[in-house]
Amino acid sequence: MAERTETDTVVVGLGAMGAQALWRLARDGVDAVGVEQFTPGHDRGSSHGESRIIRTAYMEGAAYVPLVRAAWRAWSELEEDAAARLVVRTGALMLGAPDSPAVTGSIAAARHHGLAHEVLSDARVAERFPQHAVRPGEVGVFEEEAGVVLPEAAIRAAVRLAAAAGARVRTGTAAARIDPDPDRPRVLLSDGTRIRARRVVVTAGAWLPKLLPRAAGPGGLAVQRRVLGWFRTTRNPSPHANGPVFARDGADCTWYGFPSMDGGRTVKIGVHAEVAGNGVEGAQWGEPVDPDAGPRPPDDADARRLGALAAGLRGVGELPERMAACMYTMTPDEDFLIGQRRDLPGLVLAGGFSGHGYKFASAVGAALADLARHGRTDLPIGMFDPHRWD
Ligand SMILES: Cc1cc2nc3c(=O)[nH]c(=O)nc-3n(C[C@H](O)[C@H](O)[C@H](O)COP(=O)(O)OP(=O)(O)OC[C@H]3O[C@@H](n4cnc5c(N)ncnc54)[C@H](O)[C@@H]3O)c2cc1C
Repeated sequence: MAERTETDTVVVGLGAMGAQALWRLARDGVDAVGVEQFTPGHDRGSSHGESRIIRTAYMEGAAYVPLVRAAWRAWSELEEDAAARLVVRTGALMLGAPDSPAVTGSIAAARHHGLAHEVLSDARVAERFPQHAVRPGEVGVFEEEAGVVLPEAAIRAAVRLAAAAGARVRTGTAAARIDPDPDRPRVLLSDGTRIRARRVVVTAGAWLPKLLPRAAGPGGLAVQRRVLGWFRTTRNPSPHANGPVFARDGADCTWYGFPSMDGGRTVKIGVHAEVAGNGVEGAQWGEPVDPDAGPRPPDDADARRLGALAAGLRGVGELPERMAACMYTMTPDEDFLIGQRRDLPGLVLAGGFSGHGYKFASAVGAALADLARHGRTDLPIGMFDPHRWD
């Protein structure tokens, strides 16, 4: 006979957000069950590839800055509890034309919140950051309050701490169905187990639109493919051994990269978004993905596209020595979806992180735990209300 379980809170999906939520709940003494279809830290969702950028002067909008600040504090708490280094401070360099979103957006956020930053001419960037081949007239915005979060390590640490604090963790098991209910929502697992809880936190990443098609209201969520490439450094010592993470607005896309995380051997880059109306034929990045099938594996065309971008770096090979495909889950406005929906009672949702959510996971996990426990949170997540598209 199928097993039946009762608990206070179920967390469905132990990726970036769910792992942090489960840890916060368990740490606060809440009876919680975490369900993950694969293994924590796996490479089939949105949280693999060894590194994620965290920046404070947020080019996507000054309104995000209070949440980034909360995330910095929450990452420190996780590092302390895990006795592990999960965030590496490197500073960040935003590059582009003076009127590009990377430059204007980060300056606007820095000014609005009084954040320390420096605006650098092309000559100053070339002098201070010789790893970048800057074009005449390009501008750099540097801030120290930025760095790299280690995604797989942070997920594994949070799940391990959650289990140590008493959470029941079920891996290799999917939530096949979630039935909303204001008092006792239910989760049916792929092995036939039925779990009744007081609240269900749903952090299913790219699978959220399949599991709960109504989560984002009429606008829906779009799952897209992205490709990361690791380029071998060609100089010794490598100019990429240290230095800031970066994002760069080019002619047809916004791309980003990291200093070497492997002692100077490779540099990782990726494309965040295409620039609209640039005359490029068809979408080069961002093809739709069915998460169960997974993103199409990287191919030679991906290698060539990434190689063309890497020409903007000095001291790296022409083509990536390895690549990985990953999924973005986009909301209609590219702001996140966090909170509760009146037509999905008993559920707390977080998804649609639109390719820039990892840095916030520590604070989002705390907000989700608050919402599951108390129905409200003091963390600044109001702008992510799942009803805003209705
Ligand atoms: C290539 C790439 C680069 C990025 N770079 C950055 C960056 O530099 N900085 C930044 O801040 N953000 C970045 N992001 C975005 C960030 O990584 C994502 O926003 C974040 O990882 C999303 O977290 P999530 O918890 O929603 O999804 P995930 O981490 O994918 O977690 C969802 C989890 O739910 C599980 N799951 C799904 N359905 C079920 C089910 N039915 N039952 C059980 N388990 C289920 C999945 O297996 C998965 O483990 C990047 C994303 C990509 C793809």
